Amino acid sequence: MVEKKRRVRFAPSPTGPLHMGGVRTALYNYLYAKQAGGDFIIRIEDTDSQRFVPGAEEYIIEALNWCGIIPDEGVDTNGKVVETPSEKHPHAPYRQSQRKPIYRAYAEKLIENGYAYYAFDSADELDAKRKEAEANKETFIYNYKTRQELKNSLTLPADEVKNLLETTTNWTIRFKNPENEIVKMDDLIRGHIEVNTNTIDDKVLWKRADELPTYHLANIVDDHLMEITEVIRGEEWLPSLPLHYMLYKAFGWSDTQPRFAHLSLLLKPDGKGKLSKRDGDRLGFPVFPLKWVNAEGEVSRGYREDGYYPQAFVNMLALLGWNPGTEQELFTIDELVEIFSLERVIKSGARFNVEKAKWFNQEYLRKQTDSQLAQQFIPILKEKGVDTDKYNVMFVEQLCSLIKERAHFVADFWDICSYFFIAPVSYAENDVKKFCTPETMEIISKVKEFIGNMDIKEFATAGNTPKQECVSDIEVKLTGYIKENEWKMGAVMNTLRLFFVGQAKGLGIADIIYFIGKEEVLRRISAGQNAVK
Ligand code: GLU
Repeated sequence: MVEKKRRVRFAPSPTGPLHMGGVRTALYNYLYAKQAGGDFIIRIEDTDSQRFVPGAEEYIIEALNWCGIIPDEGVDTNGKVVETPSEKHPHAPYRQSQRKPIYRAYAEKLIENGYAYYAFDSADELDAKRKEAEANKETFIYNYKTRQELKNSLTLPADEVKNLLETTTNWTIRFKNPENEIVKMDDLIRGHIEVNTNTIDDKVLWKRADELPTYHLANIVDDHLMEITEVIRGEEWLPSLPLHYMLYKAFGWSDTQPRFAHLSLLLKPDGKGKLSKRDGDRLGFPVFPLKWVNAEGEVSRGYREDGYYPQAFVNMLALLGWNPGTEQELFTIDELVEIFSLERVIKSGARFNVEKAKWFNQEYLRKQTDSQLAQQFIPILKEKGVDTDKYNVMFVEQLCSLIKERAHFVADFWDICSYFFIAPVSYAENDVKKFCTPETMEIISKVKEFIGNMDIKEFATAGNTPKQECVSDIEVKLTGYIKENEWKMGAVMNTLRLFFVGQAKGLGIADIIYFIGKEEVLRRISAGQNAVK
């Protein structure tokens, strides 16, 4: 038998920015499809007009593009909006609001076959029922018991039903959930599941008021029409699975229904509950791939804007809830395509760890060439007011090479090395007290004179001499002079560092001298001497 082409979809609702858990769902779908040589589709489920948020769809597409999760079919591929069917996009449109005319006939078909009914209860009437149940410490559900006493096509005479359908617009079509049946389901991650239909309510499938389907109907109809073979989605949809099974059966599509895989949640760093936007704000890390500003102007930070490489973000997400079965942690997206498997997706929640996220970024930062890092750092330097034209690009490259081991992000570079570009304007008080004793200041005067006479090669004069050679030469000469005089190495170096950096912390003295040059070194020592006098 020829295997069917695998077709999976990511089906977000544009109700806000895409949470990193959503990106992971999209990623697992993508990896699954690519491994099987199948298709990855993006469908926008926007039938709930009350929860629609402008800009959310664009955000979702941009976020997936940033991650390199590119669909084969969908609302938008490579920046082009796809609205009409074509050979490449046979099921367009992929936005459910544009597919509106499709769904009603399917809902009516269910009524014809006895799997659904018209319901005419107003919101107020249902509210009253809910309150009544609450008063008796019960929960109201619209089901096989209560439907007998409510206003629907199962209880009202046919001519009244006909009349209400023609003259009113606030009716709905509800699924007629069977009484006391066991729905038997299989999940690729969770195994076999059984649920009694008595625990489920008669969900609304279609609403006359806006002539739109609800999520359940649109989702099943579209997965069927789009020939989806596996539904890989978040575990919050697991409670809907029995209804979805019953819908496939009611439509007579059980034979071709997709297989299901429900992914566990991403958990807070302490493992207690779902990772939410508030955790990000509270603990200081992003939960969204890109920055998002809501209608009230409230800003949520994004991985992109925080300086993460998309490759690092994707790598980190892949391992949150899936493992390759080996110790290896670093994977390109193509390597992930090779080895991903749903069998290795864990059933329990995956705990988010921001330190690990930073570690991934650091690993990717180290993989960058010095020239790539310089290109990423130069815009930051400009932003900080550095006239970058004054610096040879090699200067920035060599500096990046020196500091990259100390950073998780290129954005950290400035804090690590700003003093290579601007002289300190003040000196840490504690360090001044500790290191600028009269005795050391006397020594510093001599060291300054020594440096003034030192024959060294610095960045500007190094020519073809490799940097390391220049730096070692400076180091040997300077430390030799201090040792010769039997001065305390630490005290002298810390005072110099204080004058070069503004505090007794920073990179190696010989490195600083090499980069900023003798003239600037002497200027900084003089400035320090004056300041602490
Ligand atoms: N529209 C649903 C969501 O926003 C999709 C659920 C599914 O994949 O079936 O998560």
